[in-house]
Amino acid sequence: MRPFAFQRATDLTQACRMGSATGQGQTDSAAQFLAGGTTLIDLMKLDVLRPSTVIDLGSVSSPRESVSFGADGLILSAFAKMSQVAEHPLVLARYPVIAQSLKLAASAQLRNMATLGGNVLQKTRCPYYRDPSWKACNKRAPGSGCTALTAPNRNHAVLGVDDSCIAQYPGDFAIALIALDARIDLTGPHGTRSIAFAGLHTAANGNPHIETTLRPGEIITAFHIPAAGWMRRSLYLKVRDRESYEFAISSVAVALNLEGDKVQEARIGLGGMAYRPWRAKEAEAHLAGKSLTQAAAEGAASAALAGAKTHGHNEYKPELAQRAIVRALLEAQALKET
Ligand code: FAD
Ligand code: SF4
Repeated sequence: MRPFAFQRATDLTQACRMGSATGQGQTDSAAQFLAGGTTLIDLMKLDVLRPSTVIDLGSVSSPRESVSFGADGLILSAFAKMSQVAEHPLVLARYPVIAQSLKLAASAQLRNMATLGGNVLQKTRCPYYRDPSWKACNKRAPGSGCTALTAPNRNHAVLGVDDSCIAQYPGDFAIALIALDARIDLTGPHGTRSIAFAGLHTAANGNPHIETTLRPGEIITAFHIPAAGWMRRSLYLKVRDRESYEFAISSVAVALNLEGDKVQEARIGLGGMAYRPWRAKEAEAHLAGKSLTQAAAEGAASAALAGAKTHGHNEYKPELAQRAIVRALLEAQALKET
């Protein structure tokens, strides 16, 4: 591990100021905020991230309760631990898809340490990114190429990829957030703003080392999840190589508003499949106004994966995702309304 300066911020304003003064940002050598440290410290030990300065957010008190409810729905502090939210009785009762996406992620120890803000900003698990002895990785070393295009790529993405990077976005919580039209609050050196969660992660677009639209020194402070009709039936289905402590090879966040068996509105997010948190809008459109039969679910699944691009070892993924979507939709349909 390389030497770095350590700063401890005591409030948000100071943290943003420290971030801005030390060049906090998205290059491998830029200053970094430290929340639970479960991603950042790993990547520093691996010599993938080499921050000049680490700014500890551990003493920054959140402007919000970990879990609260406003007129528009659920509000989660970005500094809340994953376990606090996953086990919160009101989140379990009213937003099961959120609770399940957190509960099915990582291990109990990690969930006790890791924060929601750090979770949505976690980096890809692409092995060629995480091991600097692989020279070609556009995400780690811009312009160097992409090893995964020709090397084993079983876990790599099939949606939203281009030849600059086929890495898969690894998180679970973000898949529920994108399905549910969440928004996030940001505080930066120049004030606060609110953006759609869908606007946080950027496409690879030839520049995969730029991953988000966050500005230097900006901190995520909260997530807002609307209390829309589709929250009546929701679930998170995660398919992985082993039953616990493993990232998704395919996952589906589903939220359904049904009138009888007719779909008024459906919200579908896909994990383990795409370069960034993925909303399956084509599948949602396919279902609108239809009876939710096996055939309709299969049609939606096929629409969701129509644009998939495989690279050899990950050829199995589109079919796996389609099966997961069908199962998630039919299981959500069978749920009692919340
Ligand atoms: P940190 O490591 O502290 O920070 C991560 C990044 O976010 C850093 O760049 C930091 O600067 C930035 N950051 C943190 N908070 C903020 C903020 N509020 N505003 C702006 N920037 C911020 N995750 C899953 O979803 N599913 C899994 O199945 C899963 N399995 C895992 C298995 C293992 C073995 C490990 C090690 C991790 C796994 N994870 C999984 C990832 C884990 O959930 C993340 O490491 C964790 O959520 C990151 O949160 P943190 O608070 O520790 O972030
Ligand atoms: Fe790097 Fe992306 Fe290629 Fe992996 S898929 S080697 S992260 S450029």
